[in-house]
Amino acid sequence: MSVLVVGSFMTDLVARTTKQPVAGQTVVGESFGIYLGGKGANQAIASKRCDSETYMVGALGNDNFGEAFLEFLEKSGFDKNHVLIKEKVSSGVGHIVIDDETGQNQIIIIPGANLHFTEQDLLKFEHLFKKCNIVVNQLEMQDEIIIKSKELAHKYNKKYLLNPAPYKMLSDDVLKDICFLTPNETELAGFVGKTNLTEIDEFKLAASELVSKGVKNVVVTLGEKGALHCSKSGCKLYPAYKVSEVVDTVAAGDAFNGTFAAMIDQGRSIEEAIKYANASGALTVMKKGAIPSIPTIKEIEEFLKQK
Ligand code: ADP
Repeated sequence: MSVLVVGSFMTDLVARTTKQPVAGQTVVGESFGIYLGGKGANQAIASKRCDSETYMVGALGNDNFGEAFLEFLEKSGFDKNHVLIKEKVSSGVGHIVIDDETGQNQIIIIPGANLHFTEQDLLKFEHLFKKCNIVVNQLEMQDEIIIKSKELAHKYNKKYLLNPAPYKMLSDDVLKDICFLTPNETELAGFVGKTNLTEIDEFKLAASELVSKGVKNVVVTLGEKGALHCSKSGCKLYPAYKVSEVVDTVAAGDAFNGTFAAMIDQGRSIEEAIKYANASGALTVMKKGAIPSIPTIKEIEEFLKQK
């Protein structure tokens, strides 16, 4: 029993300031923080916190950020031999400036080593595809990694989950035979050529279009509306759990995906997996940050007991 995540590592460098610099200007800011994340790493942490054995495969640069991330992964119980160190590129970094007065942010993403992880690199970890129950991808790596991961999952008769984030149009060939596709509202709209969708019936129609293209299960995360599951047998909405306060929604989608994958790994039904994933997303929005806000299975079960 295990979950294999092939995905990204990102280190966010966050500067808070009351004055944004204009070109050529230097300003003195308020505070600075370094936060580990990346959709791959966040989802792997969520799966591991649900007590599934979890393998995290990807790449970091040969720099201080890479070193710090490896140390964190090791401390969190991951096998650091599943992470390649790329010599001539930086680790993936998000450079974020937040205006303390307006809350608006400016972000520069440097994917770095994440985009230098190749198909040949992936093949070094083929043995993990044999061992796991479910393979999880997002879209922060090269397309060839998505295509090969799906192919290897099928070769070894394993389940395959694609969280199509950040959004990128996918060919019908890629969509075909995906076991679980988990777009959020905007990603789902993108797949059906719309700028946005608002009504549940519109989400159902769009998700059913993806089912007709060969996706076996579309699980749409709908923020405070919960999650919608569509398959050949129809659609079912799972309303979100009420939360006391939304502190920030960072990593809610990642918590949902990692928890969902872990529950499927542990043999739960799709219905049960969505129930746990909805609870995981709800708990995540009640805490600040990405990785620190992702709950453990104990916290999820406690939360569900109170519902
Ligand atoms: P993303 O961050 O990828 O856009 P969503 O915003 O759809 O993902 O959130 C993922 C999941 O987190 C939702 O499906 C839901 O289960 C949970 N969630 C998000 N926002 C809330 C909220 N305000 N109240 C309760 N649950 C929420």
